[in-house]
Amino acid sequence: MIIPGHIGAEAGWMSASSLTHAALDLGTSPDCADVASFACWVCGSPSSRGMPIHDWMGANFTGQNRVRAIDSTHVCESCVLVMAGRPPNTLRMYTVLLDERGAVKLNKGQKPEIRAWLREPHAAPWFAAISDSGQKHIIPWAPINHSDTSPLVAFEEMVVEVGDWTLVDRVAELLTMGATKEELATGMLGPRAWQLCGDTLHSFERDAGHLRGGGWFELALWLAQRDEEATKKRMEAEGAERKRKREAANADRRGRAGTAKRVPRDAGVQRTQALGSAPRQDADRGADDGGAGGVGDEHPAGTQTGFAFAAPVGLDRDARKRGA
Ligand SMILES: [Zn+2]
Repeated sequence: MIIPGHIGAEAGWMSASSLTHAALDLGTSPDCADVASFACWVCGSPSSRGMPIHDWMGANFTGQNRVRAIDSTHVCESCVLVMAGRPPNTLRMYTVLLDERGAVKLNKGQKPEIRAWLREPHAAPWFAAISDSGQKHIIPWAPINHSDTSPLVAFEEMVVEVGDWTLVDRVAELLTMGATKEELATGMLGPRAWQLCGDTLHSFERDAGHLRGGGWFELALWLAQRDEEATKKRMEAEGAERKRKREAANADRRGRAGTAKRVPRDAGVQRTQALGSAPRQDADRGADDGGAGGVGDEHPAGTQTGFAFAAPVGLDRDARKRGA
């Protein structure tokens, strides 16, 4: 997206490239020379030092459809320097944040620092060129903000108007509770997410679901991170709950098996005879199948641990029916 307002800019206006060049003290490029005043083909900034486009184009430039001064013949020295180098020694690998205090270069492992910088008040002019892929040149087209009111930031090739920060906080809360970024990005929320954070999800979808598909939603999702400490505690609690249930189920099964031992050995025979089924080994199956009617919940637990409790459970039930 092209930001209107800065093309053919008045003298003294500086693009994000020019501001970065000065703030990071990038020096001079041996490929650049003094030339008559021109507007930079790439960033549109007025300049008097640069290099001809055709000498520069070898640098794997793919932003032809984003250039700001289409009729220009030169690229400014700031753009040449800002887009120079190969990973890891190139600025496109970094998120660059700049205001009058100076420029900071952060990698995408430093999201807490990126969030903190974006959220605080800025001394104008300021810009944010936020890199995710590390593949794109972002700085030359980063919009310059002159206040903190509805600021625009560059997020990869997208220009995003910074919205309400509570969106980032709410996404972080849901991630901490166990929803995934994929679920929140697409709105395809799985049963586990609804189980873990149903009420919070309901209010999130009500208040922010309509922002899905917008730039701020995408950036907020990228910026938000779960609280690792709280997530660890939640996962430990979930593990403990699973263990407790497993032990309770085992204890229950042991209790039933113990009761079943006290049932007369011919109880199963009596039952299969009553059902009119002959072979003794089928009695076990019959009792097992009978479980579906009343003791189905014990069934998966028995299967899970590999114990063949089906017959004793069924026998026990029959025994109880008869008042044993
Ligand atoms: Zn430029």
